Amino acid sequence: MQRDLDRLAGMEHDVVVVGGGIHGACIAWDAALRGLRVALIERDDFGGATSANSLRIVHGGLRYLARGALRRMRESIQERSAFLRIAPSLVEPLPVLIPTRGAGTQSRPAMAAALALNDQLSLGRNRGLGPDHRLPRGRLLSIQECERLFPAFPSEGTSGGALWHDARVRHPERLILAFVRGAVSRGAAAANYVRMERVTHEGGAVRGVAATDLLGGGPVEVRGRAVVIAAGPWTGQLVGGERSGHPQAFALNLVVGRRLAEAAVGLRVANGADEDPIIGGGRFVFLVPQDDRTFLGTWYARADGQDTGGLIQRGSVALLDEFRSACGAAALDEADVIGCQWGWLPLKSGRERGREDALAERPCVMGHGASDGIGGMFSVEGVKYTGARRVAEDVVDRVVSALGIAVDRCRTAHTPVDEDDVGAASASLHARVRHAVRDEMAVRLSDVVLRRIGSGLPPAAEAVAAAARITGAELGWTPPREQAEIEAVMSQIRTTSSVVELPA
Ligand SMILES: Cc1cc2nc3c(=O)[nH]c(=O)nc-3n(C[C@H](O)[C@H](O)[C@H](O)COP(=O)(O)OP(=O)(O)OC[C@H]3O[C@@H](n4cnc5c(N)ncnc54)[C@H](O)[C@@H]3O)c2cc1C
Repeated sequence: MQRDLDRLAGMEHDVVVVGGGIHGACIAWDAALRGLRVALIERDDFGGATSANSLRIVHGGLRYLARGALRRMRESIQERSAFLRIAPSLVEPLPVLIPTRGAGTQSRPAMAAALALNDQLSLGRNRGLGPDHRLPRGRLLSIQECERLFPAFPSEGTSGGALWHDARVRHPERLILAFVRGAVSRGAAAANYVRMERVTHEGGAVRGVAATDLLGGGPVEVRGRAVVIAAGPWTGQLVGGERSGHPQAFALNLVVGRRLAEAAVGLRVANGADEDPIIGGGRFVFLVPQDDRTFLGTWYARADGQDTGGLIQRGSVALLDEFRSACGAAALDEADVIGCQWGWLPLKSGRERGREDALAERPCVMGHGASDGIGGMFSVEGVKYTGARRVAEDVVDRVVSALGIAVDRCRTAHTPVDEDDVGAASASLHARVRHAVRDEMAVRLSDVVLRRIGSGLPPAAEAVAAAARITGAELGWTPPREQAEIEAVMSQIRTTSSVVELPA
């Protein structure tokens, strides 16, 4: 996979996709698989923004059951199975445990009924999956069984737990890269470090985008008969008009440097709507173990105009406090926190019915022919990593219909993505770094160590230095350049590692 700007600029594409997060990558993959000529541009590195910060849960939608939203639940179940089927080396089953208690909706009879219904509604969930990827039926656990899975299980006042299986993306950035590579292997022209400046159009029809090569190549015209802006939280700004001021939530997870449990665990936080206006109080926080780390999430706040550093600081303290109150026996303190992840998510306000401050629940896909008089222009704001494949299917259906051409139907739910063993941890460091640079478009050290090699967890300083030597040799870096790249990566890791300074 080469960064070929001549090819990007040298032809008219059927569709130009802007944004290389999970939505843009899935759209490019789907369109290329249907035989469209595709261009994909990303202003930073593929998968480096919101998508890198997901808690990594591919939700089966059990939460929708409580609200009777069965259609959405079935869709989530189908998408969970699709990810497990098409990317089995990057997506795996994830056991999820929540405590049972009392006589209400969290009681054992209520949870037993919910698990049984969940199994019933997901009867086809294991179709086409290998033995290691099949999701077992849900079941109730005794307190002792819960403690075996989670030694700090807060057993007081509980009657045990309910266990079901969702899925987890082990390395969200590598899955995105797999979709991009798949698109490129079917003819797409893709480039990172190319920023869209504006959509170009003429006589009411889109002509492509005016962009800038951020690696020194200057302006680039990328011509296309359709343009899809899938720039996550930046979509509104790029589209302009009403959508540019759409309010967003800030969302934050913490990374803890030890493994706390053998299953993901959901715990209800005892705060009210005043302290938690986005969820409205009483939300579930989850701890999600992966290898020797645990992700804790998620904390939300309205983002408008607030300084990001302040939000990170406030959220880190609040989230750690919430976990301490919810499971004191885990004895979590600030020294356990080795990093944090954060991003922005859309709010309902003005785009969906319901409480204005609540998180948006539905992706927003728009054609801008009627609203802005630009035929062939589309924009996408997704709400979950989990739903990105389905959203892409919808978007590409609309693009195909706007182009008025006959192409194959969507095949992404059943076509394995190009998973690449060279990038996996089993190959030598040399082989992985060389492959990242030569075949996966890595141009910065951060691309190599944070998104191409390793497990997606913050790397140690020695590993960064070793990878820098190999990357530098590949790319002809001078010693000062190599040092600057190391410092940039270490500063990125340090920034996210030192955010928790609890008030004295
Ligand atoms: C803390 C947190 C936890 C989450 N947990 C989960 C979870 O457990 N499960 C789940 O399903 N979902 C989860 N989500 C939601 C999920 O991560 C997002 O919905 C999803 O990743 C958004 O993907 P995206 O492609 O739309 O956006 P992004 O990943 O942000 O991609 C958009 C891309 O567009 C690029 N871009 C912007 N402007 C331009 C431009 N001018 N030119 C070119 N490119 C541009 C950006 O650089 C970026 O890479 C979580 C989100 C957060 C923040």
